[in-house]
Amino acid sequence: MPSDLVETDLPQRHKSQDELRVLYQEHREENRTKTTRPGVWAGFAVYMLFSITDILLIPDVAAHTIAARFMFGVTFLAIFELLFFENTNSKWLDRTAAAAVFLAYLSWLAPSIMTKHTETMSYYMVFGAIFMMSANLFFSFRFLLSLVTSGLVLAAFVVAMMTFYPEDPSYQIAFGTFYLSCFAFTSYVNWSLNRERYKVFLNALEAKFMQKEATERGQALLRLSRTDPLTGLENRRAVDEKLRDHWDDWQRFGKSFVAILIDIDFFKKFNDHYGHQEGDRCIAHVANALRDATARYDGSIGRYGGEEFIVLARVNEREEIARFAEAIRRTVEELALPHEQRHDGLSIVTVSIGASFTRDQIGTKLEKIIHEADRALYLAKATGRNCVRLFDPNDPDTCDERENIAALLKIAVAQDLVSLVYQPILNVKTGQVDAVEALMRLKMLDGTAVPPSLFIPVAERSGAILELGRWAIRTVCCELLVDNHVPVVSVNVSPVQLKAPGFASSVAAILKETGIDGSRLAFEITEGLEMEMHSDILRCIIDLKLLGIRIWLDDFGTGFAGLSWLRLIDFDTVKVDRSFLHDCDFPRGKAMLQDIVGLLRNRGYKILVEGVESKEQMSLLREFGIYQVQGFHVGRPSPANRFWSNKTTAKRPRPSSSPLVTPSAISARIQR
Ligand code: C2E
Ligand code: CA
Ligand code: CA
Repeated sequence: MPSDLVETDLPQRHKSQDELRVLYQEHREENRTKTTRPGVWAGFAVYMLFSITDILLIPDVAAHTIAARFMFGVTFLAIFELLFFENTNSKWLDRTAAAAVFLAYLSWLAPSIMTKHTETMSYYMVFGAIFMMSANLFFSFRFLLSLVTSGLVLAAFVVAMMTFYPEDPSYQIAFGTFYLSCFAFTSYVNWSLNRERYKVFLNALEAKFMQKEATERGQALLRLSRTDPLTGLENRRAVDEKLRDHWDDWQRFGKSFVAILIDIDFFKKFNDHYGHQEGDRCIAHVANALRDATARYDGSIGRYGGEEFIVLARVNEREEIARFAEAIRRTVEELALPHEQRHDGLSIVTVSIGASFTRDQIGTKLEKIIHEADRALYLAKATGRNCVRLFDPNDPDTCDERENIAALLKIAVAQDLVSLVYQPILNVKTGQVDAVEALMRLKMLDGTAVPPSLFIPVAERSGAILELGRWAIRTVCCELLVDNHVPVVSVNVSPVQLKAPGFASSVAAILKETGIDGSRLAFEITEGLEMEMHSDILRCIIDLKLLGIRIWLDDFGTGFAGLSWLRLIDFDTVKVDRSFLHDCDFPRGKAMLQDIVGLLRNRGYKILVEGVESKEQMSLLREFGIYQVQGFHVGRPSPANRFWSNKTTAKRPRPSSSPLVTPSAISARIQR
C-alpha cells in the first residue's frame, strides 16, 4: 500500500491515513479508466506483432503460437471491453489485466516450447522478461499485484527451463540470473514508481487544498472590502457596483429601478450629545431596521456615507415607490430611539428620504439618478425632515434648473450677472435709516432674473456661496460704506460660509483693503436648513465679533433652532420673521407676536420686525414698542445709487428714473 510506504512531511490538512487512502483510490479510479483502455489495446497489438518473430524463429509451431496469441488476445480484449462497458472499478480491471499478462505468457510459452528448434527457443525464452516488465512497468498495478504477476511469470519460466533445459547448468545460471535480476529490478522500479505516484498525488492534493484556501481567503477579503464594518451592510463601493448593474439593465433591457437616499435627521446633534459610541449604535439600529424594511420589497441596501443609506430596488410605479419609502421612514420612526436634542417638537430618531426612479427622459448618465435622489432628499430636509420626497421632473425645486443655475453661478461674478440691491431698515423713533440690508440678485445671460429662493440654496450646496459671499461683502463696502452713504449695511451670511475655514480672515482682509470699520457691517444669520450647531460656526462668530461685526439672527421663529441659538450666541439684533406680522390679522397671531416680542425683550435683544407692508402694521408695531422695521411699506430693495447722498451723486451719475431714497423721504412716506 503506497500510503504506508511513503513518509511525508506534507501537512495533510487533518486527514488520517485512511481518509488519504480513500482519496487516493478515488483519484486512481478517475485516471485508471482513461489510461487502461489504450494500454490494453497497445498490449494486444504488440502481443500480436510478435507473431512475426514466432514465424522467423520457431516456424514449425508458429501456426499454433499465432492461433493461441489470436484466440487469447481477442478473448481478453472482449472481456476488457465488457468490463469497460460495465464500468467495472479499477481494482478488477487491474486484476484482469494482471491475469491477462500471465496467461498471455503461458499461452505463448506452452505451444512454443514444443518446437524442434530447441536452441533458438532457449534464446527466444528471454521474451518472457517482456511480460515481467509489462506487469511491473507498463501497467500501473499496485506493488503487490505486480509482484505476484511478475513472480508467476518468473515461476513459469523456471519450471519451463528446468523441464526442457535441465542438462545445461551454464544456460540455467545465465538465464535464471537474468530473469531473477529482471524480476528484482522491475519490481523495485514498480515499488518506487508507486511511491512516486502517491507523492505526486499528495502534492497535488496539497496544492488543491492551498488553492481552495486561497480562493476562500480571497472571497472573504472581497466580502470584507465590500462590507461596512459598523452595520454589516454593503459599503459605498459595493453599492456603486450594484447601481451600475441596475443602470446597465435599465439601459439595455429597460428594467426600471428606484434609488432611495435615506439620511438620519439631526445626527450630528445626536453624536455631539450622546457621544460617538451611541451614535454608532444608533446607525447600527437604523441599519437593521432598514434592512428588514428593504427585504420586504426585495431591494438591496447599503451605507452610502456617515449617516446616509441607499436602497436600490426594482420598483417603478410612483405610488409603490412612495409606499415603499414611507414604509422605510415609518420603520425608523417606530424604533423610537430617543433623540432629545433636536428641538423641532420630536424627540426620537427619524430619517428624511429622497427618491428618484428611471424614466424615459432620464438620459444616459448614471450619476443623474443619484443627483435627483439627492435633490429630493435635500428638499425633504428643507421641508421639515422626517418625510419622503420623490424627485419630480416638473417641480422647479428638484428639476434640472438647479444644474443650470449651478453653472451660471460659476461665471456670475466674472460676467457681471450678480448684483446687490438694498432695503432700508428704519428706526421709527428717530425717523432715520439706521441700516440697509443687502440682497443679492442674479440674472441669466439673457437678462432673466433668477429669484434668490432658487439660486441661494444652489449656491450653498455647490459652494459657490463662498465666492459670492466675499464678493457681496466687498461690494457693500465699496458701493455704500466707503463714502458713508449709510451708517450700517447688513449682509446675509449662510452657515456654509461660517463653516468654511478662513471665512473670518477673508472678511478681515476685505475690511483692511477697503478701510472700513467692522462695526459698520452686520451679518444676518438664518436658522436655516443646515442649522445643526457646529463648533466651527461658533468659533467663526467669535472671530467676526472681534472684528467689530454685529451678528443678527434673521427670520426668527421660522426654524427650530432659534431658541437654542439665542442661548449659544450673543446676537446684537433679532429679526422677527414677517410671517408673524402678517398673522396679526387674527387675535391669536397678534398674541403670538406679542409673546415673541416679550420673550426677546426680556432677554435684552434689539428687535427688528420684517415685512411691514401697510400703515396698519406700522401702527401695530408702534403699539408694541418696536422701533426697528423693514418692509415694502418702508422701502423696497433698490440699487445702491438710490442711497447715494448728494455729495457723491455729483461724482457718480444717478439714473433719473430712480428717485433718491433719503431718510427724510422715507419718514415722510410713513407719516402719510
Ligand atoms: P431675507 O434675508 O429674509 O430677506 C428678506 C426678503 O424679504 C427679501 O427677499 C426681500 O425682498 C423680502 N421682503 C422685504 N420686505 C418685504 C415685505 O414687506 N413683504 C414681503 N412679502 N417680502 C419682503 P429676497 O430678496 O427675495 O431674498 C430672499 C432670501 O434670499 C433672503 O431672505 C435671504 O435669506 C436670501 N438672500 C438674499 N441675498 C442673500 C445674500 O447675499 N446671501 C445669502 N446667503 N442669502 C441671501
Ligand atoms: Ca436677511
Ligand atoms: Ca429675513
